[in-house]
Parts: sequence; C-alpha cells; structure tokens
Amino acid sequence: MKKTVVLLPGDGIGPEISAEVLKVLDAVKGQFEIDIAIEEDVIGGCSIDACGVPLSDKTLAKCKAADAVLMGAVGGPKWDDIDPTLRPEKGLLKMRYEMGLYANLRPAILYPQLAGASSLRPELVADLDILIVRELTGGIYFGEPRGIRTLSSGERQGYNTFVYAESEIERIGRTAFEMAMKRGKKLCSVDKANVLEVTVLWREVMQGLASDYPEVALSHMYVDNAAMQLVKQPKQFDVIVTGNMFGDILSDAAAMLTGSIGMLPSASLNRERRGLYEPVHGSAPDIAGQGLANPLAMILSAAMMLRYSLDQDEAALAIEEAVARVLDQGLRSADIYSEGCRRASTAEIGDAVVAALIG
Ligand code: NAD
Repeated sequence: MKKTVVLLPGDGIGPEISAEVLKVLDAVKGQFEIDIAIEEDVIGGCSIDACGVPLSDKTLAKCKAADAVLMGAVGGPKWDDIDPTLRPEKGLLKMRYEMGLYANLRPAILYPQLAGASSLRPELVADLDILIVRELTGGIYFGEPRGIRTLSSGERQGYNTFVYAESEIERIGRTAFEMAMKRGKKLCSVDKANVLEVTVLWREVMQGLASDYPEVALSHMYVDNAAMQLVKQPKQFDVIVTGNMFGDILSDAAAMLTGSIGMLPSASLNRERRGLYEPVHGSAPDIAGQGLANPLAMILSAAMMLRYSLDQDEAALAIEEAVARVLDQGLRSADIYSEGCRRASTAEIGDAVVAALIG
C-alpha cells in the first residue's frame, strides 16, 4: 500500500541533511520495493518568510493526513527577534500538539567506532543502546493552573501544576512495554514517588500494566538515582519510561553519553503510530551551507520512520547497518572526527551510506 511522507527540511543545515536523506530513501525504495510518496513543504523560519507563520494550516493538514512527517530542524538568528508567538519553534510545538504526539522516543546508541567521543570511559559506554520513552504532551509542562501571581504580601510567586491522568500514564506505559518487547525486555520506570503523589499514581499504573507484558522485567527508579546511574553504569538500562520533565532532562544526559549530537535521531508518535521524525540537534546556523553538517542523525531518524510508522523493519535495519559500515570505513564529519579518520562532507557521507546500502 502506498505510504505518504511529508518532508520538512526547515532552516539552517536542514535542507543540506534532507538532501542526503532523500538519496538514502530513494535507494531503499528501490531495494525493498517500498511505495512511498514524499512531498516537501515548509516549516519554521522558511515558512515565516514564505507565508508569515511558522506552520500554515495547509501544511499542518498535509502532515496530519500523512503516514509520517520527516523534519530537518527549525530556527536561526534571522528570526530570533520576531514576535515570540511567531518564532520558528512555535511551528514545531503546534505540530506536536495538533498531531497528538504523546510518545517521544529517544534512542541513545553509541556505535563502538565512536566510543572515544563519549564523555565517559569507552569501557562504560561501548555498545551502549538505550531507548528513552518520554511522555510529551502532559505533566508539568502543560498542567493548569500555571503562571506568576502576586501574593497578598506583595511578593510574586511562580507556580505550575504537575498532573497526570491514569489514561495518560497507561498510554505511554503501553508504548514503552511494547518497545521493550521488541528489544531486551527490560523496562525501567522513572519517577519521584517518594515525594510526588502524581508519580505515586504513575508507579501504580505501570505496576498494573506489567501483568499484560509478563515477559518484560519492570523496575522502578527515582529520578535522582536514574540521573546518577546513567552516568555511572549506563549499560544497565534497556528501555526507560518517564514523564515529560524528567524525560527532557534524562534524554539530554543520555544523548551526551554518545558523544555527538550529530548522531542522534528521535521519533514522536501518536495513537495511530503516525509520527514526526527528526534529529535531536537544531539548525546549526554556525555551519549551515558549508557541507560540514553530519547527516547521520536525520538518516537514522528516517530509519526510525521506516520501522515505526511505515512497517518496514528490514529497510530500517539496512540503513542502520549501512551507517555502521560507513563509520567502519573511517569517514567522519567534523563533529565526530578523530585522528586517523578521513574528514568527509555532508554529501560524501550521504553518498557513502547509499553505496553501503546497495553495495
Ligand atoms: P544546535 O543543535 O543547532 O547546534 C549546537 C552545536 O552542535 C553547534 O555547534 C552546531 O554546529 C553543532 N551541530 C548541531 N547539529 C550538527 C550536525 N548535524 N552536524 C555537525 N554539527 C552539528 O543548537 P543551537 O545552536 O542551540 O541552536 C541553533 C538553532 O536551532 C536555534 O535557532 C534553536 O532554536 C534551533 N533548534 C531547533 C531544534 C529543532 O528544530 N528541533 C532543536 C534545537 C535547537
């Protein structure tokens, strides 16, 4: 059946890395006889320039109707001083909300060839492969009431509300258990149940789900300990599931264990498994247009898209293996360069992935 993908290259290095992803998708389409129609559109700063808003209703409607959305990155100094309600990032937030993308999947994988790039000793991180499942549309980032008020004393007070309904916890919990079933069958739920009632409920719901997934070993960890364990002994984890704020922080910490932001893909899924796939990094305006950007994070995001929204596991694996082969060949963009390797441009890396795929 024909699948539809909306490609949103965005700003900065977005168009350069998107061009490499298109080459890779063309190669797998031929190799695995996948019928995908890819339609390009605009988001972020380039959308502001073209139509005055960071995400137009027309583009949003296209994204909602597609099987998946693949994005480069948005933002840049050109749009830093505009009306805050129109900033490029607002387009991305609107899409996450409108598409109901409640599950954010952030793999932290350290290719053994890059073990030297990690902030931790190679033996602690070689072959690291963690998946963080973060709840993305609830918790304290969205809870009401919120604001800054003036107390009767005249002092100002800031406040937010940390809330999760059982159904929200169950929804993200099931996603995480299902991901764990496809991987090492180990799930660690991270909370702060010793202090916060909302996460007492979180823990109860996770425990309740466990009987539906008897093969998965469920454990619980307080968030402060999880932060410590991530930098002490990261390989103890397989899948981690947590709320919006804890996930925001832990996924960035886990990302850094892998050394380079240019290698990290992500997916955000909704109930129908439609999703938004994007590299973790931003639009890197400092290197845009120079052929210096590492396209691998976006190429690996496309592999996630094939796996989770387009049911093409084989093609996804083929891309991931091709990336590993390119690293084996010693090709490196500037962000992952180390002595003894060969510096390669954005396009050279894209071409090498295609060659490794079809070779
Ligand atoms: P950034 O991720 O764009 O860049 C941080 C550093 O990492 C820079 O030195 C950059 O050159 C480098 N880098 C990033 N991606 C790289 C890649 N693929 N290859 C090689 N090097 C890479 O973060 P920033 O500088 O804080 O933000 C720049 C712009 O991106 C801002 O406008 C910000 O708002 C936006 N941003 C967008 C997203 C998104 O679209 N999801 C995420 C983060 C930041």
